[in-house]
Amino acid sequence: MRHLLRFLEPVSINDACQDILDRFLADGAIYALPVVDAVARPVALVDRKHYVEFFSKPYSREIFGRRSILELLAYEEYESSEPIVVEDSCSVEDVAQIIIDAGMQHMVSGFLVSSNGFYLGVANGHDLLNIITQRKQAELYYLAHYDSLTGIPNRMLLGDRLDQACRDAKRKGCLAALLFIDIDRFKQINDSLGHSAGDAVLRKVVDRLKASARAADTVARLGGDEFVILMEDLDDPAYVDVVAQRLVNSMREPIELLGHSLVATVSVGSAIYPSDDTEISPLLAKADAAMYEAKGAGRDRFCRYSAATAMYNPARMSLENDLRRGIERNELLLHYQPQVDIASQELRGVEVLVRWQHPERGLVGPGQFIPVAEESGLIVPLGEWVLREAFRQLREWEALGLPPLRMSVNISALQFRHGSLPSFLAEQMAAYDIDPRYIELELTESVLMHDMDEVLQTLQEIKALGVSLAIDDFGTGFSSLSYLRRFPIDRLKIDQSFVRDIECTPANESIARAIVGLANSLSLDIVAEGIETSAEKAVLEHIRCTEGQGYLFAKPMSAEDIRAWITTHRTNRVITDLFDRAIPDFLLQVQALG
Ligand code: C2E
Ligand code: MG
Ligand code: MG
Repeated sequence: MRHLLRFLEPVSINDACQDILDRFLADGAIYALPVVDAVARPVALVDRKHYVEFFSKPYSREIFGRRSILELLAYEEYESSEPIVVEDSCSVEDVAQIIIDAGMQHMVSGFLVSSNGFYLGVANGHDLLNIITQRKQAELYYLAHYDSLTGIPNRMLLGDRLDQACRDAKRKGCLAALLFIDIDRFKQINDSLGHSAGDAVLRKVVDRLKASARAADTVARLGGDEFVILMEDLDDPAYVDVVAQRLVNSMREPIELLGHSLVATVSVGSAIYPSDDTEISPLLAKADAAMYEAKGAGRDRFCRYSAATAMYNPARMSLENDLRRGIERNELLLHYQPQVDIASQELRGVEVLVRWQHPERGLVGPGQFIPVAEESGLIVPLGEWVLREAFRQLREWEALGLPPLRMSVNISALQFRHGSLPSFLAEQMAAYDIDPRYIELELTESVLMHDMDEVLQTLQEIKALGVSLAIDDFGTGFSSLSYLRRFPIDRLKIDQSFVRDIECTPANESIARAIVGLANSLSLDIVAEGIETSAEKAVLEHIRCTEGQGYLFAKPMSAEDIRAWITTHRTNRVITDLFDRAIPDFLLQVQALG
């Protein structure tokens, strides 16, 4: 038992306390620093080893479980250690560095926070971690919901706001309107003046869109040269025409750019909820169709959606019919892309990627037909075909003596919500005698963000079959982290947009780092997709991302090619280490020849 326990006179939270803090820090024999409020009631006891605050508790109360403060102070191991005092203006990153430099001891014990000599409180490394995580979430949220070029909301955030605006309109009995805006002949501007001038034009257009809209309206970029203005809380539909016309007029003024003066007119279409549609989802397509009508009528003008507006897009219609026939005629096929252990480059599994061998168009990628399949509902039979074919292939490989491979299959939102997915999986896995441990389904965040309870139910049914679940394109479709805790997820796939040029893009590195940290803290597996260069691979390896997928290791290949790849994989490992992007292609050719 130590005898000479020395306390300092109490620090008042209302008085400057630098002087007392200084003495506390300088004199190792002083064990604790009491903190009192304005009427001298104790609010905290800050001691050297465990910087604790216990608000509104008398000193005699026990802290740390059953030990009283006096016992605690007398505790053998209770040696003085230097507390850290930080100013509250110190950045979170600085504090993190201080904690790391101090050997992480303040992770739990904590440090004192002061501001201009006033005692502010106690913080510890865990608080700090929370702050960092929250910031990263905010960063990820921003990346997922805002357009990086212009800083305005993107398609995702527009979708959320449109939902909300229509629900409000229904409740209040008012209107919500969409203006679909497309810059006329933007491609020419881009091609003749270059991309950076094109970007500058897009930013100037956004300024004018904002100036024409009301402050409360959402101005969003859908991508390329397409923008949308969402107007909420409207009483008079005629006001939509006023804004649209104002906008068309304002765009006729020349834009001054690098000594040039150019005019970028726009074509605008409008659709109004609930008069043009009482459903939310077709509204954007209707405003888009009205915009096309404006283009067809000579550009640089505004058209309102009406029942007479031509809704069909001829290119899309023929693709849809073609696809329907293509599925029937067995024109779809699967390619497989290896997922490897980044450090050893050992094969861990393959992602199943669908292709369409079109009789005239040649090999068509899923980017071109999956959206059409989703809109037309064809995705359900298509997705079922993919699962069946993947299972059949797994069986065939096994019969050929290949070691069992984990197969990751993409599941689209509609397919997931269709209702019969768990029973379909159960049936087909039984039919092909598939060990569920080798099957992983890749879902996007948008699938999970829907109706929490319903989604959870389906996920649990799928998990009960023994199948694993991964979140695809993780980080791009964010709105809440809480679902990660609630849902039975096994793996996160870091989206390739965060992998691209990660070695020279600090924002990408910190996001990838945050995702890896998140996965670790929730005990989830991780895989990074779209790794193209060894520099990207090196950074990912450094931040402890264990698995990877990308052209650096191998491109998606036919079932036959992947068999050959697996057999020659050991050689590949050495060669891909030496060279970059070009090599997997080259190897594929060699394999195709051999
Ligand atoms: P995803 O699931 O994120 O698939 C990864 C995509 O990235 C694939 O494109 C793949 O070929 C490509 N990729 C892989 N490594 C690299 C790389 O190093 N660099 C680059 N630039 N790209 C790389 P793919 O095959 O065109 O597939 C595109 C998307 O189509 C997939 O994205 C997935 O969302 C969807 N998809 C593919 N197959 C299916 C399917 O059977 N069902 C459903 N519902 N969707 C599918
Ligand atoms: Mg995928
Ligand atoms: Mg992906």
